Amino acid sequence: MENSKEMRTWLDDMGLDHPLVIAGPCSAETEEQVLRIAHELKDTDVNYYRAGIWKPRTRPGNFEGVGALGLKWLQKVKEETGLKTATEVANRAHVELALEYDVDLLWIGARSTVSPFIMQELADALEGTDKIVLVKNPVNPDLALWLGGIERLHTAGIRKLGAIHRGFSTYEKTKYRNIPEWQLAIEFQNKFPDLPLINDPSHITGKRDMIFDVSQTALDLNFDGLMIETHFDPDNAWSDAAQQVTPEKLVQIMRDLRIRKETDSEAEYNAKLSNLRAQIDILDNQLIDTMGKRMKVSDSIGELKKQKNVAVLQSNRWNQILGAMILEGESRGLSEEFVLKMFKAIHQESINHQEKIVNG
Ligand code: PEP
Ligand code: MN
Repeated sequence: MENSKEMRTWLDDMGLDHPLVIAGPCSAETEEQVLRIAHELKDTDVNYYRAGIWKPRTRPGNFEGVGALGLKWLQKVKEETGLKTATEVANRAHVELALEYDVDLLWIGARSTVSPFIMQELADALEGTDKIVLVKNPVNPDLALWLGGIERLHTAGIRKLGAIHRGFSTYEKTKYRNIPEWQLAIEFQNKFPDLPLINDPSHITGKRDMIFDVSQTALDLNFDGLMIETHFDPDNAWSDAAQQVTPEKLVQIMRDLRIRKETDSEAEYNAKLSNLRAQIDILDNQLIDTMGKRMKVSDSIGELKKQKNVAVLQSNRWNQILGAMILEGESRGLSEEFVLKMFKAIHQESINHQEKIVNG
């Protein structure tokens, strides 16, 4: 994907003065539902109307989508509202039908991106298409797998490509349905600055109340667009009820988001930014320095443990540290989640050091 510049153009060519917006229900349920939501979104910032036609459900027995029938409804959406359409495809048959019904944007879901076999099947089925194809991140935080999927599409001659960050699943319960791992998204952008990156706050949060904040974070991190599930009666949606917002709410979200634009006071902004960045650099150096010192002390403890022949892992002591640091963190505005992650990483490094010493 050396020539990633050309991939940017489909979004640039749209000439939008706001981030790309893809909105619509999680699933197409009935013709009336699909058309009603589309009409409510018609004169808003929405560029593409999404609706899942085939739904990947975790367990069987749930609503699995209306199937090809829904593609006719999407065609009607286009005719009646002028909105362009989008749906998820997960196999060759889906692709053939979606192309036949002239869906404008196809996305590949998180459960498909994990499988190189599925990605190759989709790339083969889509070969040479000029439709926009967006690839959601795989369910697990594996950047290479995500990029590999996009690469398969690029190799198949698909040029209007982009990625959707929908968060990653975790065993531990967090406040997110799928945690965003913003660092990974930042790495993604650094590697492919010209590949449009869309954020999906609906599947990241799983809760409509959190959608605004996650959308704002995404825009602050230079995401190029948002995909937000929208339904006129979210609570009674046939899938993902808790995370869908009404069309009115979507309009309000779009109005309230601070969208970064170039301003006249660019110079002033740059000066302030450099100043703040310089402060961050200093603090980062202090952090590394402190970590180095901490590990030296930890090495000395390792020596002691070796002499005494005691185990490297002392759970009581470790739990004490964690408890105390979570409290300290709280008083400084640091989340428990962050303090826990940071100290787990520090602890692991400390164990690695001591293991080396104890085992000679
Ligand atoms: C969806 O967009 O409705 C969907 C199923 O998303 P994901 O693949 O991110 O779970
Ligand atoms: Mn959904």
